[in-house]
Amino acid sequence: MSEKYIYDLSEGDASMKSLLGGKGAGVAEMMRLGVPVPDGFTVTTQACIETMNNGGTWPAGLRDQISDALARFEERAGRKLGASEKPLLVSVRSGAVVSMPGMMDTILNLGISDESVAAVAAEANNERFAWDCYRRFIQMYGEVVEGLDAHIYEDALTAMKQRKGASQDTDLTAEDLKELTTEFKQISDDALGGAWPSDPREQLMRAVEAVFNSWQNPRAKVYRKANHISDDLGTAVNVMQMVFGNRGETSATGVCFTRNPSTGENALYGEFLTNAQGEDVVAGIRTPRPLIEMKEVLPQAYGELVDTMHKMETHYRDMQDMEFTVENGKLYMLQTRNGKRTAAAALKVASDLVDEGLIDKEEAVRRIEPDQLDQLLHPAIDPGQSATPITKGLPASPGAAVGAAVFDADTAAERGEAGEPVVLIRFETTPDDIHGVLQAQGVLTAHGGMTSHAAVVARGFGKPCVAGATDIKIDTEAKTMTVGGVTVHEGDTLTLNGSTGEVFNTALKLIPPRLNEDFLKVVGWADEIRDLGVEANADNGTDAAKARELGAEGIGLCRTEHMFFGDDRLPAMHEMILSENDEQRQVALDKILPMQQSDFEAIFTAMKGLPVTVRLLDPPLHEFMPDLVTQALKVQEMELKGADPTKLAEERRTLAQVKKLHEQNPMLGTRGCRLGMLYPQIPDMQARAIARAALAVLDREGETVDLQIMVPLVHLRQELQRQREIVVAAVDDELDKAGQKLDYLVGTMIELPRAALVADQIAQEADFFSFGTNDLTQTTLGISRDDAENGFLGWYEAQGVVKRDPFATIDVDGVGQLVRMGTEKGRAANPKLSVGVCGEHGGDPDSIAFFQSVGLDYVSCSPFRVPIARFAAAKAKL
Ligand code: PEP
Ligand code: MG
Repeated sequence: MSEKYIYDLSEGDASMKSLLGGKGAGVAEMMRLGVPVPDGFTVTTQACIETMNNGGTWPAGLRDQISDALARFEERAGRKLGASEKPLLVSVRSGAVVSMPGMMDTILNLGISDESVAAVAAEANNERFAWDCYRRFIQMYGEVVEGLDAHIYEDALTAMKQRKGASQDTDLTAEDLKELTTEFKQISDDALGGAWPSDPREQLMRAVEAVFNSWQNPRAKVYRKANHISDDLGTAVNVMQMVFGNRGETSATGVCFTRNPSTGENALYGEFLTNAQGEDVVAGIRTPRPLIEMKEVLPQAYGELVDTMHKMETHYRDMQDMEFTVENGKLYMLQTRNGKRTAAAALKVASDLVDEGLIDKEEAVRRIEPDQLDQLLHPAIDPGQSATPITKGLPASPGAAVGAAVFDADTAAERGEAGEPVVLIRFETTPDDIHGVLQAQGVLTAHGGMTSHAAVVARGFGKPCVAGATDIKIDTEAKTMTVGGVTVHEGDTLTLNGSTGEVFNTALKLIPPRLNEDFLKVVGWADEIRDLGVEANADNGTDAAKARELGAEGIGLCRTEHMFFGDDRLPAMHEMILSENDEQRQVALDKILPMQQSDFEAIFTAMKGLPVTVRLLDPPLHEFMPDLVTQALKVQEMELKGADPTKLAEERRTLAQVKKLHEQNPMLGTRGCRLGMLYPQIPDMQARAIARAALAVLDREGETVDLQIMVPLVHLRQELQRQREIVVAAVDDELDKAGQKLDYLVGTMIELPRAALVADQIAQEADFFSFGTNDLTQTTLGISRDDAENGFLGWYEAQGVVKRDPFATIDVDGVGQLVRMGTEKGRAANPKLSVGVCGEHGGDPDSIAFFQSVGLDYVSCSPFRVPIARFAAAKAKL
């Protein structure tokens, strides 16, 4: 017996999501709870996975199982697919485990045929409706299943309208649509060389196959990659009886959320259209009406809908996103799922659900997607400016965006990727635009409502979106948009306010966002749960203050090299590098010391007694010097022009030094503690600057400094031993001179494989370890961190050779093993050793889950990742 690939809706429930997909499991659960849903069956994700693994061939038995399920379904419905009497019409829809709104394919009205169309007309008592369904079906089936081009149908429709003098589709009569259907069939058959399948049973099989294939379409792949959804999950296929929202004015279709998905407010939210078919609302083709108006138009169905929304939200204990259809006054639910929401809404809903007693604090924290919190940190328009919007649409996804207008997704993707802020303007976005949406700062559409795909996708990605700005006229050929006498050309600057729906044709000033009460409340629960400390990487007082504001418990990495840049500092640095003996070098270092000291004072002041880890100079010295080629050309030009001999000699001296410092592989060269080994005066100067800053802050503000000094790029115990001696001698000398005492720690980065391998030896000299997983990844994988994404690694990711960028999410099997080993060996040799991580991975939720499993003491990440890390650390514990 072959595996069971089909479940009747009555056989499923919510727990079977991975097998039946979100939609199948959701509808089955509603059926179980007595909510009115159309009957049908689900083809499992397993069938799709096996088909993918078999190179597109269906598993044995699937075809027969579909036929059997259809027979049972026909029996229950008392109807037959495509029959001339009591015909059964079905929808065939995708249903992934993790919802991917609009990314895959759907076929509606399957079962309408030359045999059944008359019966459909008779039952509906509406001939026009029947022919309209039929011609729509042929087009949808032709495009989605047979891969025919949309324009062959659109051209025929336009020609028909011209012939009949019709300005709108709705002006076409039943006779016209009948004629159009015949034409559609003919052009489909011609396009397929006579292979158009007219048997609905065969069409059903091919529709299932098409939905399986749509798992692999480019937009679905882009969406999965952006959301880290595995390519291996496959989609289920739901075959359900059609219910018609387009049967006249007592029929409708709509989408609703049990709470506001933008703000989280506990109020009904949704849209509907009377006399329309489901896809019209979500695809944004007609701009729908707010749900509340349905109370007037279809009061009974509205009442039932509100009850169902309440029932399902209480059942799932979470905000639901639902689709419904009303057919001749009778309500049917087509889908329910946990609604996608903005970060602000996620926090408010979680906090409210705790207050309402539906979930506990742990569950509230579990439901927050840490990565999504980035949105809260998005800027808003500075309210202190007066500007008149050129138009206003629907506030579909909050936040503000400023960028150059672009009118197609490819340009948005290209220019956005190149680092230019762009605003994507579309008549309506389709899922094919997703690559452009991802690279744009914000999205503006002329059509579509708050629940259109554009809005749902934009909210998911935290992109500000103004949808349904119906006044704008877009000319995609000319790449212009016109509204109220204003014409916006490609490249002109626009500002969008996704929170109000306003659009401005100027660059408005943005202000940083504020974390609201909901955030503070829920993050407080996260802080109670987590074990991992969360610190920040910050190199100046401003960043340090920001980090504290966002909840950092210390500075886990202060990169001192950034302090040497700037016009006032670089000359002193050059002098230090060009010096020919220790005396000259000391003179230069003496100039740098007070500059460093003032930087450290700013950081210590901002951190008010929290730990600050200052790392000694890391990059190779030539990074502070002009580039070799540029300097050589400069000298050559001066020689040719017969420049002033003193100046020429100076530039030649610089060139000689640049040549001397030049390394083929500077990342593997004289950097990190190796510099401190060659030039001990540098760590000596830095240690003195640190100590003097700490003393000054103590003196001025009475605030003690929790000081940790960190040595970079160590691979030998001897290196740390020597650097420690230099640092301790300098700091203690400064303390002695001031007659003060201060506890401080000296530790090291672990960022080379050998350091992790001999961590027990290195730990003898260290008070703490901080894993520098950027360099550790670079040196373990042998992949340059600076070139990776542009080179083969991007290709590896695109091809699925690697699932995640190892510089963004830790390579658990390789680099992770070194982190685990280094931690265990280090702690075994030195039980007091504290261990953290300060590479980019310290702010990545999946990596944080791994660091929790290793038992690190803290992670350190850039200030804006701190809120994300606080949640990720809590979730890693749960
Ligand atoms: C690291 O290598 O992970 C690290 C934090 O140091 P940097 O990025 O400064 O090399
Ligand atoms: Mg490093």
